[in-house]
Amino acid sequence: MKNNNQEVLVHVEHLKKYFSVRKRGTLKAVDGVSFDIYKGETLGLVGESGCGKTTCGRTVIGLYPATDGTIEYDGKDVTKIGNEEQKWFKKRVQMIFQDPYASLDPRMTVGDIIAEGMDNFGLYTEPKERQARINELLSLVGLNKEHASRFPHEFSGGQRQRIGIARALAVDPEFIVCDEPISALDVSIQAQVVNLLIKLQNELGLTYLFIAHDLSMVKHISDRVGVMYMGQMVELATSEELYSNPQHPYTQALLSAIPIPDPEIERTKTVLPLEGEVGSPINCGSGCRFASRCKYATEECSKVTPELKEIKEGHFAACHLF
Ligand code: SF4
Repeated sequence: MKNNNQEVLVHVEHLKKYFSVRKRGTLKAVDGVSFDIYKGETLGLVGESGCGKTTCGRTVIGLYPATDGTIEYDGKDVTKIGNEEQKWFKKRVQMIFQDPYASLDPRMTVGDIIAEGMDNFGLYTEPKERQARINELLSLVGLNKEHASRFPHEFSGGQRQRIGIARALAVDPEFIVCDEPISALDVSIQAQVVNLLIKLQNELGLTYLFIAHDLSMVKHISDRVGVMYMGQMVELATSEELYSNPQHPYTQALLSAIPIPDPEIERTKTVLPLEGEVGSPINCGSGCRFASRCKYATEECSKVTPELKEIKEGHFAACHLF
């Protein structure tokens, strides 16, 4: 899982994605986020519901048009490319969706679901070749070729997520956004799906953006982890560094709430409560968005937005304390 490649595959700079909300103003779902994703790594993206992590992932792969900012994929700014290059980009990036129940069309066979992307891109057009590719993908995700003629309702949640993974792999992508791919699954199945994603990454050289709110699973799969709060990136570091040495007050509070599987330590550990009102991402102005919940907040915090700065090699935080 550990990736030492420093070649940038995805470069995101000052990315913004705003939505207008009728009669209320502008929802700043993603507001000036910057990060790189290296070839072959997994970048985890965490934060509470509504922090903008899913919108960020969807915008990066072009499912939402960006309001502002740059998204470079393999050196090309994909917010400015024409139709032909869009096709090139769409074949390279795929998404695994959160809900394996809602994301598979119940009227289609598993084989047709998996082959949809191949059909759209005109790949594996010979029927025999197409079937062989479907069988290969089914085996890659731990299913078998008999499953191709069945329908989604005949499968468990974990198996459906495997079908979703096979569908994402069908067009040979390089980069996959995994949007909370395990949160709808039973705990007993979650580790199996995560281990499958790790195995596929090793075998196929994939790069992942892994979005989740389960911090312990993110630690397991990610090389580096970014923490989002109200549309902004507040901390980014290697997985090891972030979990052992969190610096931003929000990250510290999030991590302190993770249960530790040792009853002795769990009983004596200090949980930092997240108190105070969560601000609204609609029409929010300048200042630190975490200020209303932060025990270190000063006057400066409510006026000046902290920039994401490198506070130690490879460790970035957006906080006036640094
Ligand atoms: Fe707290 Fe101020 Fe840092 Fe924001 S900038 S996290 S309010 S200390």
